[in-house]
Amino acid sequence: MESTIVFTGPLTWTNKAACCGQTSLFFPPPGERPEARARREAKARTICAVCPVMEDCREWARNHREYGFWGGESEEDRAAAGFRVEMPVGRVARYPKGDGAPVVPRGENAPV
Ligand code: SF4
Repeated sequence: MESTIVFTGPLTWTNKAACCGQTSLFFPPPGERPEARARREAKARTICAVCPVMEDCREWARNHREYGFWGGESEEDRAAAGFRVEMPVGRVARYPKGDGAPVVPRGENAPV
């Protein structure tokens, strides 16, 4: 029997999420290769683009430094925006933790 979780409180917006039932597109499997990640995240991004709660989702993920793809943003997108996850790996580990203002990865010059 399949069940549906209905959130209340600060996560009420998730009840309108366009990604419902598509978790595998929003979180990586173990050992995911960069090429596969790019394809998976491109699909996730198209779903987020038409989601009615994208702004709420993005704000939640940034403020809670979530892992995975949320609100049209990958972990790297959030890191660049100044909201890096607590324990980064791979490309995301190049970014400083950030304090909510855009940052650049270590070893790269600031954008002009
Ligand atoms: S913005 Fe994307 S990740 Fe967030 S609820 Fe909508 S579809 Fe899901």
